[in-house]
Amino acid sequence: MHKTEAPAETLIIDDDEPPSGRLAIDTLYPAPPAGIDPIHLTRPVFILPAQKTSLPRHPKLSPETRAFQKQFFPGATVRDWHDWQWQVRHRIHTYERLNQILPLGPDEFLADHTVQLPLSITPYYASLIPKDVPDHPLRRCVLPTAGEWIKMPCESDDPLGEDHQSPVPGLVHRYPDRVLFLLTDFCSTYCRYCTRSRVVGHGGIRASRARWEKAITYIAANTSVRDVLLSGGDPLTLSDDRLEWVLSRLRNIPHVQIIRIGTKVPAVLPQRITPALVKMLKKYHPLWMSLHFTHPDECTPETLTACALLADAGIPLGSQTVLLKGINDCVETMTDLMHRLMALRVRPYYLYQCDPITGSGHFRTSITQGLEIIRGMRGFTTGYAVPTYVVDAPGGGGKIPLMPDYVSGHTSDDLVLTNYENRSFTYPDPGLESLQTVPAAE
Ligand code: SF4
Repeated sequence: MHKTEAPAETLIIDDDEPPSGRLAIDTLYPAPPAGIDPIHLTRPVFILPAQKTSLPRHPKLSPETRAFQKQFFPGATVRDWHDWQWQVRHRIHTYERLNQILPLGPDEFLADHTVQLPLSITPYYASLIPKDVPDHPLRRCVLPTAGEWIKMPCESDDPLGEDHQSPVPGLVHRYPDRVLFLLTDFCSTYCRYCTRSRVVGHGGIRASRARWEKAITYIAANTSVRDVLLSGGDPLTLSDDRLEWVLSRLRNIPHVQIIRIGTKVPAVLPQRITPALVKMLKKYHPLWMSLHFTHPDECTPETLTACALLADAGIPLGSQTVLLKGINDCVETMTDLMHRLMALRVRPYYLYQCDPITGSGHFRTSITQGLEIIRGMRGFTTGYAVPTYVVDAPGGGGKIPLMPDYVSGHTSDDLVLTNYENRSFTYPDPGLESLQTVPAAE
């Protein structure tokens, strides 16, 4: 169903950014070097210079963002633009509005509003998408296409079997010592490949205290649960007060050792990471975060500011990335993304094979391609920069790590290994008769 667009406001652009404390990032918007594919490397790597101890509260808007804001949100002030609630209120969630901002191609027109997952894009994220690049990776991540109608035999709405491992609504208990607690089904921006497209944006797992109470009661009663992952939808779209209510209740359960939050907010709504939010979050340590990133172009000065606030609050940051055809499925793009994440102080964590959800065939690559990407990274760059490639086993089998095979054989005394340069080495290891396989690293 098409929803009503929020009313446009009057044109007022005020330059109210801090006049001082500018970083090098303010001037880092050069054209890509000659010969570099502009789709895959359009932005510089943003790094907080060592001599700076803090960032200005808001980075200066890029010329592209400023032009976008003036054209499509002429009533907004710069202060509005930096306000996460303004971003959410003005998210693009009708096809009419989307077509004004990013004129739709034939395939996108066909998708219209009948696809399963609703449409929503924050103005900030839309501003990162050049309107004249039809196959731009960020565009493909968030604009519906007719491909979402095509259901392949291997696909299902709930390929991970979460609904069968859910003892109370919105809580998945698959592994022995940890649970997945879905706080809300709302996201400010919906990813077209979302594993939970069957529930997000549909109102099935609303943010309600009555439902949360049931989940917390379950966690409190199950003393084996030492780790709670808050996800959704996006938990950081909740207000500080509501999020704190959940965190404080969980922190009062003695056997809950760590709390994790899974979010895409730093990529699609970095304005949400406010000093007030991190001040609240740091009261509930040990608190970890898994940040969802897909492409190097998501690593902007705004994201740098958001991640710096989180990291400075002592929150360990890890990344999650879904391997997506035509978006990040080559060594260069994946390596670039991981390098940028490390510069944001986000440790690359998981690279997911795209789950076979209904209508995702146009996003999936082969497993072989995923393994080749890992092979193209391991040894060629910092070990920290290489994520663990996993398949979430259909049917609820959990995450299974995959690694290229570096064992090329063995003798009775030696293990024969192939290094990243495809050179062979032997490692003395008597007793190899029993060696059949080498387990992949956790
Ligand atoms: S942010 Fe996460 S939950 Fe929300 S649409 Fe994207 S993948 Fe799905």
